[in-house]
Amino acid sequence: MSRHLDILYRGPLASCNYACPYCPFAKRRDSRETLRRDAEQLARFVAWVDGQRRRSLGILFTPWGEALIRPAYRAAMMRLSRMPQVRRVAAQTNLSWPTGWLDDCDPARIAFWCTFHPGETSLDRFLGRCATLDARGIGYSVGVVGKREHLASVAALRAALRPEIYLWVNAYRDEGPNYYAEDDLAVFQAVDPLFGLNRAGIRSRGRACATGESVISVDGDGEARRCHSVKTRIGNLYDPDFDAALTPRPCPLAQCRCHIGYAHMPHLGFRDLFGDGLLERALPAPHAAETGRTRPGG
Ligand code: SF4
Ligand code: SF4
Repeated sequence: MSRHLDILYRGPLASCNYACPYCPFAKRRDSRETLRRDAEQLARFVAWVDGQRRRSLGILFTPWGEALIRPAYRAAMMRLSRMPQVRRVAAQTNLSWPTGWLDDCDPARIAFWCTFHPGETSLDRFLGRCATLDARGIGYSVGVVGKREHLASVAALRAALRPEIYLWVNAYRDEGPNYYAEDDLAVFQAVDPLFGLNRAGIRSRGRACATGESVISVDGDGEARRCHSVKTRIGNLYDPDFDAALTPRPCPLAQCRCHIGYAHMPHLGFRDLFGDGLLERALPAPHAAETGRTRPGG
């Protein structure tokens, strides 16, 4: 295969079984029609991947809500993990779903970007799901929204997770730039050395970014954009001549504020730093273990 393409897939599904107070999709429900359309579009996408012969693919499901509570997404990930042209299939998830289907996946190629939501599930239950992934040799990262009231959960997670598991913290921005006290920042930064970068964002206008060339964002209709933040359409994945749309382009936005986006800016070196774990945001063991040795408050 001559080329590699990473696809961030986001269908219309926007429902979730959790009620996180910081999320617009909390306890949202999809109509039967939306779920039917979402499943049909997912099936079309999987069939397209199945037909790819000229390049290797990385796929990250980035649903608005929680997709893996739906059997269609579990079956899709299982199938994709077994396709030789799929280097990695990963999903952003709250890990709340039954895990038996993982036995039918290729553990070397499936991975998860897991978020712990304090208040929506217990730490023990979440860690039990992580242990299920560990037992199968499946890669994953764990993260938390960096609200101040989550500091204790972050400490407990860091103490309980294997040191090799990267624990990331997403900056909470809804309450303005003065939300964090210096002590809070020190704790989050000690747990996640990339927290400061996430909080500040990257001045990105005019800078190189691999999105639009070797990474794309695709919706259920196959409409492709370079990333989730830049809304300009670059083409449709299902058009026979779509490859012509894949070209280098500088970032048109003033700031890139999400890991899922700036991870693809070459000057940050994340492709080397994260290696095979880039899609699921998992740092390889030596880096993650380094962060793991620094316990918040200790
Ligand atoms: S689990 Fe994710 S999608 Fe669901 S309510 Fe929480 S933040 Fe939103
Ligand atoms: S730097 Fe961020 S916002 Fe800009 S094109 Fe890349 S991913 Fe998109």
